[in-house]
Amino acid sequence: MEFEHIPHPAPTADDAREQAIANPGFGTVFTDHMAVVDYDAAKGGWYSATLGPRQPIALDPAASVLHYAQEIFEGMKAYRLADGSMGLFRPLENARRYNASARRMAMPELPEELFLESVRQVVDADKDWFPTVEGGSLYIRPFMFASEAFLGVRPATQYKHIVILSPAGNYFKSGSPAVSIWVSEYSRAAPGGTGAAKTGGNYAASLVPTGEAFAKGHDQVLFLDAVEKKWIEELGGMNLFFVMDDGRVITPPLTGTILPGITRDSLITLLREEGLEVSEEMYSLDQWRDDAQSGKLVETMACGTAAVVTPVGTVEGTNGKFNIGNGGPGELTSKIRAKLVGIQRGTVEDTHGWVTKLD
Ligand SMILES: *Cc1c(COP(=O)(O)O)cnc(C)c1O
Repeated sequence: MEFEHIPHPAPTADDAREQAIANPGFGTVFTDHMAVVDYDAAKGGWYSATLGPRQPIALDPAASVLHYAQEIFEGMKAYRLADGSMGLFRPLENARRYNASARRMAMPELPEELFLESVRQVVDADKDWFPTVEGGSLYIRPFMFASEAFLGVRPATQYKHIVILSPAGNYFKSGSPAVSIWVSEYSRAAPGGTGAAKTGGNYAASLVPTGEAFAKGHDQVLFLDAVEKKWIEELGGMNLFFVMDDGRVITPPLTGTILPGITRDSLITLLREEGLEVSEEMYSLDQWRDDAQSGKLVETMACGTAAVVTPVGTVEGTNGKFNIGNGGPGELTSKIRAKLVGIQRGTVEDTHGWVTKLD
């Protein structure tokens, strides 16, 4: 499908844009354009694709996303490569996961090539928005929602797929501070639920526990399994790895209640390349505390596109508090993070074909 280009009547002035991208933080600065692809079952599926000015979306008040939350999204980044060009990291994996989420939410799949082209269109239109701050990237947010005006309960017949961009600064200010974690009593996802789909509802359900974590002075919330309230699943938006003193690394398995992170998958590969044994197995909160206290567990890392790889420093729950290692980033966390960031930015050889160069 060809994207129709709608000219922007008033793009941001150069000086305002330069100021906006000098130190953008995360998620508050947006670029000038968006890509929109429309779906209507009555028109045979995906029927219109445009690249145009980023602007408010007109929605009927009965649009089913506003009532029954049929919505999915992705999170990815364009990186500046060593040679000055831009690259995407494993974008096909995002396209595939988008469709896995769509299937779970009874939404139409978007052909992978159309997903990738919608991303390329916006990044190309707004490449001057790439942040100038060291370690910056262009955060890419593709999302799809049910736009049909209908209050009955069934999958909608009309959808919009939209891609917007947000220049993002370096998540790590300096020295990669370790994050502190609150173990929530709330559940994020249950067996048979939507935990493996990247859907807004999972985040809506995590806001009260996240607010609780913030109120108690923590950076992130940890969810345990919903059945036994015992096994570690993941953080609100990041997967976890546990590093043992004998070089063994454990990460919770993809049982359907955690999000299959692309960073998680990449780290499993990179850790194995380092000669480490990575097991995808259940690991309990009690075991984590015992291992941290005995010194058997030496590091814990959290990973995801937004924060890349972050060390976990302290853990607190209703049963008390414990620390991991010396509270700072461990040796393996720093090493594997440097390797991943190096591949993403083209300073470390990409032996897996993970980087897709743009232009
Ligand atoms: C997106 C997300 C992650 C991380 O996935 P990446 O592909 O590594 O960015 C982890 N957990 C949740 C709940 C997520 O939504």
